[in-house]
Amino acid sequence: MPQMTDERVRAGMTREEDLSLLHEVSMKTAGVSRLEMCIQCGTCGGSCPVALDMDHTPRMLFAMLRAGMREEVLRSNTPWICVSCYHCVVRCPQEVHIADVMYTLKGMAIHAKLYSDSTAPHFSQTFVDMVESFGRSYEFGLASRHYLRHFPLRLPGMMPMGLRMITKGRMAMTPKRIKQMDQLTAILDHAKTLELTS
Ligand code: SF4
Ligand code: SF4
Repeated sequence: MPQMTDERVRAGMTREEDLSLLHEVSMKTAGVSRLEMCIQCGTCGGSCPVALDMDHTPRMLFAMLRAGMREEVLRSNTPWICVSCYHCVVRCPQEVHIADVMYTLKGMAIHAKLYSDSTAPHFSQTFVDMVESFGRSYEFGLASRHYLRHFPLRLPGMMPMGLRMITKGRMAMTPKRIKQMDQLTAILDHAKTLELTS
Protein backbone atom coordinates (compact mmCIF):
# COMPACT_ATOMS: atom_id res chain seq x y z
CA MET A 1 0.00 0.00 0.00
CA PRO A 2 2.70 2.61 0.89
CA GLN A 3 4.68 1.51 -2.20
CA MET A 4 1.62 2.03 -4.39
CA THR A 5 1.08 5.44 -2.84
CA ASP A 6 4.74 6.29 -3.42
CA GLU A 7 4.22 5.58 -7.12
CA ARG A 8 1.14 7.78 -7.18
CA VAL A 9 2.99 10.55 -5.38
CA ARG A 10 5.81 10.33 -7.92
CA ALA A 11 3.23 10.46 -10.70
CA GLY A 12 1.64 13.47 -9.06
CA MET A 13 4.98 15.23 -8.79
CA THR A 14 5.73 14.79 -12.49
CA ARG A 15 2.50 16.39 -13.69
CA GLU A 16 2.04 20.13 -13.31
CA GLU A 17 1.87 20.72 -9.57
CA ASP A 18 -1.47 21.77 -8.13
CA LEU A 19 -0.50 23.61 -4.99
CA SER A 20 -4.03 24.73 -4.11
CA LEU A 21 -4.49 21.95 -1.53
CA LEU A 22 -1.12 22.70 0.06
CA HIS A 23 -2.03 26.39 0.31
CA GLU A 24 -5.49 25.60 1.68
CA VAL A 25 -4.02 23.45 4.46
CA SER A 26 -1.39 26.06 5.18
CA MET A 27 -4.02 28.82 5.44
CA LYS A 28 -6.18 26.73 7.77
CA THR A 29 -3.30 25.95 10.12
CA ALA A 30 -2.94 28.23 13.14
CA GLY A 31 0.10 30.51 12.94
CA VAL A 32 2.67 29.92 10.21
CA SER A 33 2.80 26.28 9.07
CA ARG A 34 5.95 26.56 6.87
CA LEU A 35 4.47 23.60 4.98
CA GLU A 36 5.74 24.91 1.66
CA MET A 37 9.30 24.75 3.04
CA CYS A 38 9.33 20.93 3.31
CA ILE A 39 12.34 19.48 1.47
CA GLN A 40 11.22 15.84 1.75
CA CYS A 41 14.20 14.86 3.89
CA GLY A 42 12.22 12.26 5.89
CA THR A 43 13.56 13.28 9.30
CA CYS A 44 9.99 13.53 10.59
CA GLY A 45 9.10 9.92 9.83
CA GLY A 46 12.44 8.74 11.21
CA SER A 47 11.76 10.58 14.48
CA CYS A 48 8.15 9.53 14.89
CA PRO A 49 7.47 6.91 17.61
CA VAL A 50 4.20 5.84 15.99
CA ALA A 51 5.18 5.96 12.30
CA LEU A 52 4.80 2.19 11.96
CA ASP A 53 1.06 2.52 12.50
CA MET A 54 0.63 5.32 9.99
CA ASP A 55 -0.65 4.73 6.45
CA HIS A 56 1.83 7.35 5.28
CA THR A 57 4.78 8.99 7.00
CA PRO A 58 4.46 12.78 7.46
CA ARG A 59 6.97 13.23 4.62
CA MET A 60 4.83 11.16 2.27
CA LEU A 61 1.65 12.91 3.38
CA PHE A 62 3.18 16.30 2.60
CA ALA A 63 4.25 15.06 -0.85
CA MET A 64 0.65 13.94 -1.42
CA LEU A 65 -0.57 17.39 -0.37
CA ARG A 66 1.78 18.95 -2.89
CA ALA A 67 0.44 16.56 -5.53
CA GLY A 68 -3.14 17.69 -4.78
CA MET A 69 -4.27 14.22 -3.61
CA ARG A 70 -7.09 15.56 -1.43
CA GLU A 71 -9.12 12.41 -0.90
CA GLU A 72 -6.12 10.17 -0.22
CA VAL A 73 -4.73 12.69 2.28
CA LEU A 74 -8.02 13.12 4.13
CA ARG A 75 -8.62 9.36 4.25
CA SER A 76 -5.16 8.69 5.69
CA ASN A 77 -4.99 7.56 9.31
CA THR A 78 -1.71 9.46 9.78
CA PRO A 79 -3.09 12.62 11.44
CA TRP A 80 -5.17 10.44 13.78
CA ILE A 81 -2.25 8.29 14.79
CA CYS A 82 -0.05 11.35 15.46
CA VAL A 83 0.14 11.83 19.23
CA SER A 84 1.53 15.38 19.06
CA CYS A 85 4.77 14.43 20.78
CA TYR A 86 6.59 17.12 18.73
CA HIS A 87 9.69 14.93 18.19
CA CYS A 88 9.47 15.64 14.48
CA VAL A 89 8.83 19.34 14.98
CA VAL A 90 12.00 19.94 16.99
CA ARG A 91 14.06 17.93 14.47
CA CYS A 92 12.66 19.24 11.20
CA PRO A 93 15.46 21.22 9.49
CA GLN A 94 12.86 23.45 7.84
CA GLU A 95 10.89 24.13 11.03
CA VAL A 96 7.67 22.86 9.49
CA HIS A 97 4.90 22.90 12.11
CA ILE A 98 4.09 19.24 11.46
CA ALA A 99 1.89 18.56 14.50
CA ASP A 100 -0.21 21.66 13.85
CA VAL A 101 -0.73 20.55 10.23
CA MET A 102 -1.94 17.18 11.55
CA TYR A 103 -4.64 18.98 13.57
CA THR A 104 -5.71 20.89 10.47
CA LEU A 105 -5.98 17.67 8.46
CA LYS A 106 -8.09 16.01 11.18
CA GLY A 107 -10.50 18.93 11.11
CA MET A 108 -10.70 18.83 7.31
CA ALA A 109 -11.27 15.05 7.33
CA ILE A 110 -14.11 15.37 9.84
CA HIS A 111 -15.66 18.21 7.85
CA ALA A 112 -15.45 16.19 4.61
CA LYS A 113 -16.58 12.99 6.41
CA LEU A 114 -13.63 11.23 4.83
CA TYR A 115 -11.71 9.59 7.63
CA SER A 116 -12.08 5.84 7.25
CA ASP A 117 -10.18 4.39 10.21
CA SER A 118 -12.93 3.62 12.71
CA THR A 119 -10.37 3.28 15.51
CA ALA A 120 -8.99 6.78 14.93
CA PRO A 121 -11.52 8.80 16.99
CA HIS A 122 -11.04 6.40 19.91
CA PHE A 123 -7.26 6.77 19.64
CA SER A 124 -7.68 10.52 19.62
CA GLN A 125 -10.00 10.46 22.65
CA THR A 126 -7.55 8.27 24.58
CA PHE A 127 -4.83 10.82 23.88
CA VAL A 128 -7.07 13.63 25.15
CA ASP A 129 -7.83 11.59 28.30
CA MET A 130 -4.09 11.22 28.93
CA VAL A 131 -3.46 14.93 28.55
CA GLU A 132 -6.37 15.75 30.85
CA SER A 133 -5.03 13.31 33.47
CA PHE A 134 -1.29 13.94 33.28
CA GLY A 135 -0.88 17.17 31.30
CA ARG A 136 1.13 15.39 28.61
CA SER A 137 1.11 12.41 26.31
CA TYR A 138 1.82 9.02 27.90
CA GLU A 139 2.81 6.91 24.90
CA PHE A 140 3.13 3.56 26.69
CA GLY A 141 -0.40 3.80 28.15
CA LEU A 142 -1.78 5.16 24.91
CA ALA A 143 -0.37 2.37 22.77
CA SER A 144 -1.27 -0.35 25.30
CA ARG A 145 -4.87 0.79 25.64
CA HIS A 146 -5.30 1.20 21.87
CA TYR A 147 -3.82 -2.17 20.92
CA LEU A 148 -5.58 -4.06 23.71
CA ARG A 149 -8.91 -2.72 22.57
CA HIS A 150 -8.52 -2.84 18.79
CA PHE A 151 -5.57 -5.03 17.80
CA PRO A 152 -4.77 -7.44 20.67
CA LEU A 153 -3.16 -9.96 18.32
CA ARG A 154 -0.63 -7.36 17.18
CA LEU A 155 0.58 -6.64 20.72
CA PRO A 156 3.26 -9.37 20.85
CA GLY A 157 4.76 -8.02 17.62
CA MET A 158 4.96 -4.53 19.14
CA MET A 159 6.84 -5.67 22.24
CA PRO A 160 10.42 -5.57 20.80
CA MET A 161 10.01 -2.02 19.51
CA GLY A 162 8.38 -0.93 22.79
CA LEU A 163 11.22 -2.41 24.82
CA ARG A 164 13.82 -0.71 22.60
CA MET A 165 12.09 2.65 23.07
CA ILE A 166 11.93 2.17 26.85
CA THR A 167 15.59 1.14 27.17
CA LYS A 168 16.69 4.09 24.99
CA GLY A 169 14.67 6.47 27.12
CA ARG A 170 12.29 7.44 24.32
CA MET A 171 9.24 6.14 26.16
CA ALA A 172 8.45 5.97 29.90
CA MET A 173 6.73 2.97 31.48
CA THR A 174 4.82 5.07 33.99
CA PRO A 175 3.08 8.41 33.45
CA LYS A 176 4.52 11.58 34.93
CA ARG A 177 2.09 14.36 35.76
CA ILE A 178 3.28 17.88 34.92
CA LYS A 179 3.73 20.49 37.63
CA GLN A 180 0.87 22.94 38.14
CA MET A 181 -1.63 20.59 36.55
CA ASP A 182 -4.41 22.74 38.02
CA GLN A 183 -3.42 25.60 35.69
CA LEU A 184 -3.65 23.37 32.62
CA THR A 185 -7.01 22.04 33.80
CA ALA A 186 -8.30 25.62 34.10
CA ILE A 187 -7.08 26.39 30.54
CA LEU A 188 -8.71 23.23 29.15
CA ASP A 189 -11.97 23.98 30.97
CA HIS A 190 -11.97 27.51 29.56
CA ALA A 191 -11.30 26.16 26.04
CA LYS A 192 -14.22 23.74 26.37
CA THR A 193 -16.49 26.59 27.44
CA LEU A 194 -15.40 28.66 24.42
CA GLU A 195 -15.99 25.66 22.14
CA LEU A 196 -19.54 25.23 23.50
CA THR A 197 -20.40 28.87 22.99
CA SER A 198 -18.82 29.24 19.52
S1 SF4 B 1 11.46 16.74 8.58
FE1 SF4 B 1 10.55 18.66 7.82
S2 SF4 B 1 11.55 19.06 5.85
FE2 SF4 B 1 11.96 16.91 6.38
S3 SF4 B 1 10.30 15.75 5.34
FE3 SF4 B 1 9.60 16.18 7.43
S4 SF4 B 1 8.44 18.11 7.27
FE4 SF4 B 1 9.67 17.91 5.41
S1 SF4 C 1 4.20 15.01 16.44
FE1 SF4 C 1 3.03 13.35 15.43
S2 SF4 C 1 4.06 13.03 13.46
FE2 SF4 C 1 5.48 14.18 14.77
S3 SF4 C 1 6.79 12.62 15.74
FE3 SF4 C 1 5.09 13.03 17.15
S4 SF4 C 1 3.52 11.51 16.64
FE4 SF4 C 1 4.96 11.56 14.92
